[in-house]
Amino acid sequence: MTRLLQDPAEAAALLRAGQLVAFATETVYGLGGDARNGRAIAAVFEAKGRPHFNPLICHFTDAAAAFAEVVANPRAVALAAAFWPGPLTMVLPRHPRSRIDLLAGAGLATLAVRVPAHPGALALLRAAGIPIAAPSANRSGRVSPTTAAHVMEELSGRIAAVLEGGACAVGVESSVLDLSAGGAVLLRPGGVPREAIEAVIGPVGATLPPGAGPAPTLRSPGLLLSHYAPALPLRLNATHWRVGEALLAFGAPLPGAGPCWNLSPAGDTAEAAARLFSGLRWLDAEGGRLALTAIAAQPVPMAGLGAAINDRLARAAAPRDAPPGSAAPRR
Ligand code: AMP
Ligand code: MG
Repeated sequence: MTRLLQDPAEAAALLRAGQLVAFATETVYGLGGDARNGRAIAAVFEAKGRPHFNPLICHFTDAAAAFAEVVANPRAVALAAAFWPGPLTMVLPRHPRSRIDLLAGAGLATLAVRVPAHPGALALLRAAGIPIAAPSANRSGRVSPTTAAHVMEELSGRIAAVLEGGACAVGVESSVLDLSAGGAVLLRPGGVPREAIEAVIGPVGATLPPGAGPAPTLRSPGLLLSHYAPALPLRLNATHWRVGEALLAFGAPLPGAGPCWNLSPAGDTAEAAARLFSGLRWLDAEGGRLALTAIAAQPVPMAGLGAAINDRLARAAAPRDAPPGSAAPRR
């Protein structure tokens, strides 16, 4: 049963124990999980019924906590001083020693970080003392919730609790600004207007005019077809191991294989999701070290998070679109 809580300390204890708690931000209600805990993040995707893993925004008590997980730069520091706490999300390179689970960032080399302004969200973050990853607290494909009652309609029985936080300001999502590649590009317009951002850091790279290209969220890297593919080719639905291959196993591993990462010996798709990106990275590194030729991936059933895992594996196996002027495969 999903509890409706009034006390941030109670909600914080659940989060620290790896449970899911929805909470109000100044934009919409978020579905929060411990950003360091892969199983909690897998449960977030499971509760939403998302058919793919897109990167989640990580929420922090203050700029110092946020910047501990990423590599900040002078623009990011200036924007934090101007707009945090508030509805600005910054995408920055993931710090090499970041504790944020790879699944929360969907395996990317960047992380989206934000300090929310809602007093209830800040009270929860302070009480929990951990980074909280949170997408909107609705089932996939449904409208974002702006009251605790909306969240209950969407997710009752699927999450531990909702922290009551009143009604959010409707329709203002956070602006998502990519500062990871030197410049600044607005990936999603939102609560902090472009002009306000430009007043602090100067010109912000153009987004495509409406109708001229895919929606901003679709231009986020998580949804590009071949993004974050491993360097080694990936062979899907392998039922036999071939010489020279590393193995991404699920359930009982194929006999004979060299380096093997088992997503879930017990055949649990939530466990597999939590181990997917770390596994691809490990196999890639081992494969390079041992001069292997490919990664064979055993079939993963479509049930539960299997659909999202298969979506990600299909993208990783898709033909690579090398950047202009480069023959290197995209990472
Ligand atoms: P939501 O889950 O609705 O709050 O949306 C989060 C937005 O931030 C989506 O558009 C994501 O694609 C985007 N986002 C999160 N992390 C990253 C990242 N590392 N790089 C680019 N976009 C991101
Ligand atoms: Mg959403």
